[in-house]
Amino acid sequence: MPFNPNLHQGAELNNEELCNLFGCSPQGGMRRSLKNGALVLISNRVESLYQDRFVDDVIHYTGMGQVGDQDINSAQNKTLNESKINGVSVYLFEVLEPRKYTFTGQVELAGEPYQEVQEDVEGNDRKVWMFPLGFIGGQHLKPLPAEKVKSLEIARERQITRLDREELLHRAKQAAKLPGSRAVVSKQYQRNEYVAEEARRRAQGICQLCSEAAPFANKTGQPYLEVHHVQWLAKGGEDSLQNTVALCPNCHRKMHILDAAEDKQFLLSNLMLKV
Ligand SMILES: [Zn+2]
Ligand SMILES: [Zn+2]
Repeated sequence: MPFNPNLHQGAELNNEELCNLFGCSPQGGMRRSLKNGALVLISNRVESLYQDRFVDDVIHYTGMGQVGDQDINSAQNKTLNESKINGVSVYLFEVLEPRKYTFTGQVELAGEPYQEVQEDVEGNDRKVWMFPLGFIGGQHLKPLPAEKVKSLEIARERQITRLDREELLHRAKQAAKLPGSRAVVSKQYQRNEYVAEEARRRAQGICQLCSEAAPFANKTGQPYLEVHHVQWLAKGGEDSLQNTVALCPNCHRKMHILDAAEDKQFLLSNLMLKV
């Protein structure tokens, strides 16, 4: 019977589950399972040096080889390159959070592999092989939940802020000029517009956190303030006057970046006086 891992797109596995299911090695970004005639590809979005790119439904996957030019005839690069004729089925996983493997889908070569320059683990420029991969059976890349994108950005940012300036500049200059893209789904809360407008009006043009006047007027001449829920709607907060404040753009950003307990307390006690 042909091997079928019976996974749906978006399924999350840990490394052990993945290895048991496919019968592959627990290490490496390209893992062959001889037993099942399968090749498991891992695109580590969190900590990989490799710059896999997603362009709509095509994934430009970086081959293997950490130092020096990559060889398309070596190991799993060869397996992937020949996957249209060698009968090996190819499965792609992404690491979007440490130690969690999310099944992206079964893929196949969607074009000729090509070379580009990327940095190796020793920081030297070298040529890598890029494999354009598409989904089999007309499947599409499943849109990523917006909160995953956010936590991924935060994880990458943490790593990137640790780079020294020289390394940072090197990578910035090397970056592909055409940005990758992928669909994202987010939950949009339908906030009550009467609550929002009343919160703005009762603030009378003064930010309820820093007590400064709104920094500018909008096109209709109203002081520009942004409406914010002290307990975030995403965390179960109410869309009510008791939970809504009007803030200047700086303070609004600050609440979203820091959400400091003392600021929340200050806003809530301010609200008690108003409502
Ligand atoms: Zn403010
Ligand atoms: Zn807000």
